[in-house]
Amino acid sequence: MNKNRVTLINSIKNSGHILSLAFKTSPGYVICRALMGLVTGMKHGFEIYFTSMVLNAIDRGESLAQILQPICLMALFWALYYLIYHLYWNLLNARQKLDFQHRVHKKFFHKAGELDLAAYDSPEFYNDFIYAMRNCEAVMVRTNDCLGDMIRSIAGSTSVFAVLLTIKPMIAALILGVAAINMVFRYFKNLIDYKYHQLLQEQYRKSWYIDRFFSLADFAKEIRLTGVADNLRQEHRRVVDDTRRLTVKGNQAGFAFTFIVDLLSFVSESFIILYMSKLLFDGSILVGAFAITIQSIWKMNNMISDITAQFTKLGRDALYIDKVRTFFATEPTIRSGERVPEPFRSLELKNVSFAYQDKPVLKNVSLRIEQGDRIAIVGYNGAGKTTLIKLILRLYDVDGGEILYNGHNIKEYRLDLLRQRMGAVFQDYRIFAATVAENVLADRYTSDQEALVLQALSDSTFSEKLETLPNGIHTELTREFYKDGTDLSGGEAQKIAIARVFAHKNDLIIMDEPSSALDPMAEYQLNQSIAKNAKEKTVIFISHRLSTTRRSDRIYMFENGTLTEQGSHNQLIEQNGSYAKMFNLQAENYRSNVNQ
Ligand code: ADP
Repeated sequence: MNKNRVTLINSIKNSGHILSLAFKTSPGYVICRALMGLVTGMKHGFEIYFTSMVLNAIDRGESLAQILQPICLMALFWALYYLIYHLYWNLLNARQKLDFQHRVHKKFFHKAGELDLAAYDSPEFYNDFIYAMRNCEAVMVRTNDCLGDMIRSIAGSTSVFAVLLTIKPMIAALILGVAAINMVFRYFKNLIDYKYHQLLQEQYRKSWYIDRFFSLADFAKEIRLTGVADNLRQEHRRVVDDTRRLTVKGNQAGFAFTFIVDLLSFVSESFIILYMSKLLFDGSILVGAFAITIQSIWKMNNMISDITAQFTKLGRDALYIDKVRTFFATEPTIRSGERVPEPFRSLELKNVSFAYQDKPVLKNVSLRIEQGDRIAIVGYNGAGKTTLIKLILRLYDVDGGEILYNGHNIKEYRLDLLRQRMGAVFQDYRIFAATVAENVLADRYTSDQEALVLQALSDSTFSEKLETLPNGIHTELTREFYKDGTDLSGGEAQKIAIARVFAHKNDLIIMDEPSSALDPMAEYQLNQSIAKNAKEKTVIFISHRLSTTRRSDRIYMFENGTLTEQGSHNQLIEQNGSYAKMFNLQAENYRSNVNQ
């Protein structure tokens, strides 16, 4: 949908999509809400009908028993209606809604998990994604409620209209005509509302960002240490001013339409009341017909404005709906193959090229890794080292060339099984709100896994810290879920992330700057431990600290996305190229730091 044009048609289409999504998620929820709308709407028709029966019976001077008949029927009907009404709203709807929200979340989590990593690279998609996540279930519930309310008002006005037709067709036709004109005016009023709502989006977006800035922990330090908060406070002032200006302008633009609608209703209602009074005095109609005609006009007017109000609500939500739709319609491009990967023997990159959007990052890279190799990938920041790893793990697919696992293109393999063969720790590893053991396993813990977890933690040199934790491997990490959760330092958390790789017994271990948060002593111990414990494994180390990588079997040096040098440490030092320069520079820095 064109983002700059929220039209009534678009918002109806969007709502249709959202409803079909809601229906697929929980058909019972959508059907029951629609049925309840229908029942509530029909109630208005029945009320009018029963009222006219009672009043006409009184007017005709019928016996009390005859008058009591429609009254009893009406009482019975109301009792039944309110029973259904309260059962639905207090019991069924609350349960169905919670169940529906749970299912929407599940759908959302599933979709989020299968999306390409590239989806997160586009700031526009990422913003929409967050927007969709925050609003999707609320939007679906609101749209479903809108549908229910619309059905209620349509059923209500139709049934009232039907009753009126039986009393005075001419009046029914007049009310319908007025309602139609009323709707046309309200439609134009809605268009104005959509337009201004659209114009206000930018202000909402800014306001949302400022709210997040002041409420999230991410910015807490900057708020206290820099002047950025003042800027944002001023920006908030501007947002409020612009919102006020646009809102007033929108209200002024819509004023004429609302005024005309109300004037029209007033004039038509007055005319009908006068006309019906005359008929009553002439004796051409009974008091019952008079009373219910007046009641019908008010009911019809209310319901018609309610129908248009529902369209306004849908229009207001159009933008959210759009984002939710886009999110669910986004399909992953990285698809799983069928082949089951055998234990790792070799990995080969042939002329691999890759670009993020339009930015080339890797150019014609060819290299080969054999089982048992200890490989170092080195280079300055931004050389493309991490990207290379992401391609090997199929978090992105290559743009040119191919990657072969045991001689077959990695695209042929089952994605989940291929990734299970490889264990990777990234620089931006994450600790989850879970116990130490669950963090190591990245899964649920069962008591038979204790030895495995302890060994992995020992291999990643975490044992010393483990002894100080209150509940050992059952210590809960972070305070997101647990009030008394433990927060680890950067280096300690990094060791947990490394233990994750050891616990999974992958054939190929990939470590992206595994010691970036460690002090030199801890780094040395960790390197020794990795060397000892990953003896049979193939290990790819990424680092720009060359002291970590010098003992590798082979070193690949990357510069600006190109593989420029390869060989053992001694060979590369002998070549006296970029690697030797980088190594000497780092060694010199180290020596001068020590001597200072
Ligand atoms: P290295 O690991 O060697 O430091 P990376 O592979 O992380 O380098 O990044 C290589 C280049 O690609 C850098 O210029 C970086 O800014 C860019 N880059 C990395 N990730 C993304 C991304 N998701 N979207 C766009 N550019 C990216």
